[in-house]
Amino acid sequence: MRKVAIYGKGGIGKSTTTQNTVAGLAELEKKVMVVGCDPKADSTRLLLGGLAQKSVLDTLREEGEDVDLEDVRKEGFAETLCVESGGPEPGVGCAGRGIITSINLLESLGAYDESENLDYVFYDVLGDVVCGGFAMPIREGKAQEIYIVVSGEMMAMYAANNICKGITRYAQTGGVRLGGLICNSRNVDNEKDMIKAFAERLGTQMIYFLPRDNMVQRAEINRKTVIEYDPTCEMAQHYRNLAKAVNENEMFVIPTPMHTDNLEKILLEYGLLN
Ligand code: ADP
Ligand code: SF4
Ligand code: MG
Repeated sequence: MRKVAIYGKGGIGKSTTTQNTVAGLAELEKKVMVVGCDPKADSTRLLLGGLAQKSVLDTLREEGEDVDLEDVRKEGFAETLCVESGGPEPGVGCAGRGIITSINLLESLGAYDESENLDYVFYDVLGDVVCGGFAMPIREGKAQEIYIVVSGEMMAMYAANNICKGITRYAQTGGVRLGGLICNSRNVDNEKDMIKAFAERLGTQMIYFLPRDNMVQRAEINRKTVIEYDPTCEMAQHYRNLAKAVNENEMFVIPTPMHTDNLEKILLEYGLLN
């Protein structure tokens, strides 16, 4: 079983990209579980057709320790398994710890057992900056393979660089590796070349470039992944290509994060090309 975590700046497209990639993997006949690790609990909405999934932490709070797997895990599009970790009550406790509580509960309920035949588990993790809490899945060895969703916008690249710092910190002891950057385009000038260069400087690869496409919104408003909503459209094919690239990926590295000055240099270099 491959344990994958998707990180990136808030609003960059982690949840959309995760679910569409998972739909692509499901088409490749992979058995996948998605564990949403965002207190917003919106990581599985497209796979579940908008069905509000009761989060693990809410279930624990309301029903105590006596929880069954079926209470917190629902089947979504193409037999994907969907879980939302949820979050602490606002203002109380650490969201990152909540994630670990959820994952530990799933483990004890047998969600990761061999009999489940999982090929992949995907963690869709909130977190601009990798604080101690949101680095938990990396720290505790729950995720082995990280993909960072990024665009050519400064703050997205800044966050990606910070996430690399977080990975580097735990890579030596924990075995976590960076699998690549997924560029989710914001139509920034020279975006593809810039993110390719950025990836190279980080010692990794741009594993895929996703164009910006309103089909994503159309599918979203219908509470579906693009692959389910319009399987023949161009964007669906992009997500399939990304799923295939992830499935065939063999480049796993300890990243080499950059000094902020050098990050700004890349932006200047590519931003000023035109
Ligand atoms: P995150 O999980 O990183 O906070 P989301 O996946 O919720 O971000 O995405 C934020 C918004 O961006 C969503 O409303 C989604 O429709 C939109 N979006 C994501 N990727 C694309 C894309 N490639 N083209 C157009 N819109 C996109
Ligand atoms: Fe929140 Fe991170 Fe602090 Fe935990 S460590 S309380 S997740 S900011
Ligand atoms: Mg999200």
